[in-house]
Amino acid sequence: MMEIDGLFGGFSNSTQYIAGQARARQEGFNSAKEQLSHQTEQRIAFFEDKLARYALLLKTLMLACERSGVFTHDDLLKLRETIDAEDGVVDGKLTEDKAPRSCAQCRRKNSFRAEKCMWCGNALAKSDIL
Ligand SMILES: [Zn+2]
Repeated sequence: MMEIDGLFGGFSNSTQYIAGQARARQEGFNSAKEQLSHQTEQRIAFFEDKLARYALLLKTLMLACERSGVFTHDDLLKLRETIDAEDGVVDGKLTEDKAPRSCAQCRRKNSFRAEKCMWCGNALAKSDIL
């Protein structure tokens, strides 16, 4: 139990641990650790698939824009550098904006992760496409 707790921050008491072990055996796993490993592999595969789909969409959009003369490859690289610098760190990544999100309807603040206003239920505007 200590090994599982240490690795995965899992069970807060032995009752939960025993219930987790019983559930794992019901689902055909030898242990809760084996079940968690299987679930982790499934999640990694899901995100790898999603990332590959986004990469294909991005490449398609970039090529379509270049071919139709919307921008050149150099224009795209310059714009990427400008956008990269806007979050304060030039690191080749878009750092998530963790500022609270204001609701357009009630003007109250919400978590940066919220999709709906926790005060009035209004859908919050997406800040980016991805
Ligand atoms: Zn609101």
